[in-house]
Amino acid sequence: MLNADHIRKDFPILSRQVNGKPLVYFDNAATSQTPQQVIDVIVDYYSNYNANIHRGVHTLSQEATDKYEAARNTIQKHFNAKHNYEIILTAGTTESINLVAQGFTSLLKEGDEIIVSALEHHSNIVPWQMLCERTGAVLKVIPMNLEGELIMEAYNALLSDRTKLVFVNHISNALGTINPIEYIIEKAHAVGAAVLIDGAQSCPHIKPDVQALDVDFYVASAHKMCGPTGVGLLYGKEEWLNKLPPYQGGGEMIDQVSFEKTTYAGLPHKFEAGTPNICGGIAFGAAVDYMNAIGFEAIATYENELLAYGTQRLLEIEGLKIYGTSANKTSVISFNLEGIHPYDVGTLLDKMGIAVRTGHHCTQPIMDFFKIPGTVRASFSFYNTKAEIDALVEGVKKAKMMLS
Ligand code: PMP
Repeated sequence: MLNADHIRKDFPILSRQVNGKPLVYFDNAATSQTPQQVIDVIVDYYSNYNANIHRGVHTLSQEATDKYEAARNTIQKHFNAKHNYEIILTAGTTESINLVAQGFTSLLKEGDEIIVSALEHHSNIVPWQMLCERTGAVLKVIPMNLEGELIMEAYNALLSDRTKLVFVNHISNALGTINPIEYIIEKAHAVGAAVLIDGAQSCPHIKPDVQALDVDFYVASAHKMCGPTGVGLLYGKEEWLNKLPPYQGGGEMIDQVSFEKTTYAGLPHKFEAGTPNICGGIAFGAAVDYMNAIGFEAIATYENELLAYGTQRLLEIEGLKIYGTSANKTSVISFNLEGIHPYDVGTLLDKMGIAVRTGHHCTQPIMDFFKIPGTVRASFSFYNTKAEIDALVEGVKKAKMMLS
């Protein structure tokens, strides 16, 4: 049984005040907070063994390399990749998607089709539109229903032997919907298409098994799961990573360089040009360890309780509408008050020390679908409490009174 009051002590930021009120942090879907255990790893790196990796014979470089590669192994185990060289450390989800989209330029031709879903973050739309511009491939969209669920009959109708790639998020950042990715992967493979799953929102809630999923690419960001910003992962099946050309040229990613011809390093270095975010990679490993020590089952059980409680309490407020009502969702509540702009609600909540996100959440097509400018999004983590949800509900009631 998870004890949030105890866990909160790991997060120094949670004891600060904002605008004279105790901070209530409900913007976890944008970025999660960082526990002292991960902060300590960052301080230790810069205090004791800051050095460039992979090429130094000196002790500091060796220590940094060992810790960086140990983090890669930790991440490999967590996502259950078959090989550690299938884990590419990137700047985050956005870079991982761009790496794959760029790589597919030489693999697609005019008339090929690629499939996205109506529930995607802009970072899982725009790189693929750019890929279509480069190649003449056609982008198809899996539609959604009013509950914020993808319509699988429509997906099946889109699949054909022209389909080369399907890319869908595991969990929607705007609505919290958990997508049926097992089904999506199986159906895509049946027509010979590859699948990329955007795990930016699932990584703090679910421990994915990339081998059991049989997914071709899985991407995520450390900062969504208690790690630092500027680092993330691209998991790719070995055969796919070998098929894709390098993303960027530079140091680290080469085997031999001459002015006549350069040969590339093997995996994972082929995709890791230049000095990486060394400290970030090591801290990503520490964040994965931290979350596993708490346990993903305990996290899911607790967050589902918060979701049920928050949904019930917020719906007590007359004129409040929740967007994303699937029975299959994580602890994200996107809502609006009738006749009131979400930005105004968010601004007033901030005055009360409550951090929520307002706007389109980088998902303008979802907002267009619901014909709204945006929502107020409260996203809960395992370190949040029911008392904080009560504070949110009181805050929203006050905001409603002031803005009506
Ligand atoms: N996909 C989804 C579903 C997300 O929620 C986010 C972050 N909001 C991203 C992609 C992009 O992640 P990052 O900004 O860390 O690259």
